[in-house]
Amino acid sequence: LAKIDGAKQVIYYQEEMQEVFTRKYEIENELKLSLKEKHFHVVYQPKIHLKGKPLEVEALIRWEHPKLGMVSPAEFIPVAEDSGLIIDIGKFVIDQACKDLLELHKSNPTLRVAINLSPKQFMDSKLEESILAVIARYNLDPGFIEFEITETAIMSDPSKAVQILNRLKEVGITFAIDDFGTSFSSFNYLKKLPVDTIKIDRSFINGIGENEKDSRLVEGLIDLAHKMGLSITAEGVETKEQLHFLLEKDCDVVQGYYFGRPEKLDQLVQTLTTLRQVVLD
Ligand code: C2E
Ligand code: MG
Ligand code: MG
Ligand code: MG
Repeated sequence: LAKIDGAKQVIYYQEEMQEVFTRKYEIENELKLSLKEKHFHVVYQPKIHLKGKPLEVEALIRWEHPKLGMVSPAEFIPVAEDSGLIIDIGKFVIDQACKDLLELHKSNPTLRVAINLSPKQFMDSKLEESILAVIARYNLDPGFIEFEITETAIMSDPSKAVQILNRLKEVGITFAIDDFGTSFSSFNYLKKLPVDTIKIDRSFINGIGENEKDSRLVEGLIDLAHKMGLSITAEGVETKEQLHFLLEKDCDVVQGYYFGRPEKLDQLVQTLTTLRQVVLD
């Protein structure tokens, strides 16, 4: 009997794997077509500086496929990363975000934009060139741009990462480490990396007030960042309790559904006006 059960499980497993591969294959193919057909757009989520500095937004890609519907970046970004398509998709995001920032500057002249870079994008030999080209195209001050990279992007080749960071920081671009605390590399690299900000991963913020250890971890990370001369952002802030805790512990920047979901450009202008009034109070 055990043998039969085992065999059944192998078959289930194979069927499941088959489905995963089919979906991945489909997504990869559709990504290619969607790049040509322009089925991507970019939405923006506010980041609020608690110490009175200007507002900022994070650019987040959206893929609205005519047949597959909305596909989450959490699903398609890894496929794009594996297949190399992320380079062209990433270029689209950088270009769109810079173009939109110019538009937003009409009503919010000091607004900054944060753009996510996946590991392959970050390590791409043409990254610097293509970023500088976009900045020149829109005649944008690079000081308005921040890139968010994950620890994974740095881990594969830390000394090369430091070089890339230094070159781009020289022109005035700033960097944040995204999803901080979700990989094992953190502290060893933190002391060597020329970054400006760390973003505490949502999973820790989620536990504030519910899980004593998460609260202590967040408190400790804020302290650590400040002692290292870094600014700290909390992502995934959803409740008033979380915000109060973060304010009390001296967190610099907060971001999450509590303040606003990612929105299209036209809606964002109104949200920023409202936020500006609230923040200035
Ligand atoms: P991320 O950069 O850490 O972005 C934060 C994600 O959390 C976003 O999901 C955002 O919509 C979501 N979020 C923000 N506030 C809250 C909250 O209060 N609660 C909850 N539950 N979620 C919140 P999204 O847009 O689905 O993106 C997922 C991930 O996909 C991003 O994580 C990023 O790693 C990647 N991604 C998104 N856009 C891009 C892009 O343009 N380029 C690259 N390379 N990666 C991207
Ligand atoms: Mg991010
Ligand atoms: Mg994140
Ligand atoms: Mg994330």
